[in-house]
Amino acid sequence: MTTGVVEPGSLSAILDTTAGELSRHLNRGEMALVLVLADQPEEVRCSLAESARGRGRAEAVRFAHAAGMVLRVPETFILVAESGRFSVAHLDMVHSRIQRHLRSVSSSMRAKVRRVLDAAVDKALSSWLSADDVVDEVPIVHLKVLQDLVDAVLAEVATDVAEATERREADSAELTKSGTSLRLNCGSETFAAATWDAITQRALELHTELSGAAEKLGTSLGPESVNADGEIEVSATTAVVPTLGECRARILLDLLGDTPETMKVQVNLFRLSTDGKTGVGPGYVSGQGWVSEGTAAMLETVATKTVVLEDVDETLCAESEQYRFPFVTKLQMEGRDGFCRFPGCEVPAHRCDHDHIVASHHTDPTSDGPTSLANGMCLCRRHHVLKTRGLWRPATDDAGHTVEWTGPDGEKVTTKASGPLALVMRRRMEPPEPPDPPDLPDPPTPPVMHG
Ligand SMILES: [Zn+2]
Repeated sequence: MTTGVVEPGSLSAILDTTAGELSRHLNRGEMALVLVLADQPEEVRCSLAESARGRGRAEAVRFAHAAGMVLRVPETFILVAESGRFSVAHLDMVHSRIQRHLRSVSSSMRAKVRRVLDAAVDKALSSWLSADDVVDEVPIVHLKVLQDLVDAVLAEVATDVAEATERREADSAELTKSGTSLRLNCGSETFAAATWDAITQRALELHTELSGAAEKLGTSLGPESVNADGEIEVSATTAVVPTLGECRARILLDLLGDTPETMKVQVNLFRLSTDGKTGVGPGYVSGQGWVSEGTAAMLETVATKTVVLEDVDETLCAESEQYRFPFVTKLQMEGRDGFCRFPGCEVPAHRCDHDHIVASHHTDPTSDGPTSLANGMCLCRRHHVLKTRGLWRPATDDAGHTVEWTGPDGEKVTTKASGPLALVMRRRMEPPEPPDPPDLPDPPTPPVMHG
């Protein structure tokens, strides 16, 4: 195999290909999508990438940034797109290193400075990529190498701006959340190192204390053991010493004066019920997904509010005269949808707007969409705006269970409701199964929602 191209469907060709060749092949595939996006208006690139890839917003934003770089660093893009030496992550990196400095420039000057920085980066990268020794020796460009190259160019052509950026970053600290992770950006390397050292020092003291206590008890330090059948067993007498990382987390939570057990948080739990009062079996937590019966029962015992939802089928087409959806309909919609109904979006339904699929006559006199569960869907604010502006148009022919979206270029993408109540709906839509044997209990209904 002498080329980096893999014939479609040829598994043996793929197996004969080196990892480097495959990587360049994947990069070229990414660049093809980047070119398609670059041809689209800037405002729809992100949603197109989100619907095409289905990997969430963060990845779609990287594709949108990469598409923006096609025209901003054209010489570089031509050189790397065919060779497969840049991925979307590389172009996103170039974007973010330039953007980092543009935040230090006043908005009136930003476009002008951007053109200067783009041109300098394009010239430097394209001449570096065309150098003979690079072509021979650097088949794949490492991200860190690229970052250093771009930073060096920017520090040279925009000395004052780079200085202002460093001062601004040193003064800024930011805490963000992604899934179960909280991310503290300390602003500067120095502040990050000092904070890390201070927390680690206290975590080490806690770790030493807990290890000593465990040793005194003469117990194992391991959290679990595997029995003869290969099953994992956690011994009740085992004293578990937290890892250093876990000790750091405890130190931080202690500083907040709280623990996960005592903190007050809002959790929306959906569970089936046999008596219409208490739940049974596993539960579904909005934004998180399915949890075990034990966890669901624990959450239910601390719930401050319980709402018994009618059977979805019973209320599907019940219409309200009002523009706004009634409270219980909103809960049913969140339970049915699970997430924002735009393709690829991962915003949990309880953080979404409740939107009419066919517009209501309250907002559009030419339309007659009812305010009902069948004509409602959860949409995050960003995708609600795209829909309101007519860039993406939704339709449903099964009362909101399936939503077919038509994109700016006429492309069609379908999403299915994926919340816990959608499972109930789907089971109803399937052909009936043979009757249960008489000694089995009835399947549990209807769902109960605890908040
Ligand atoms: Zn969304």
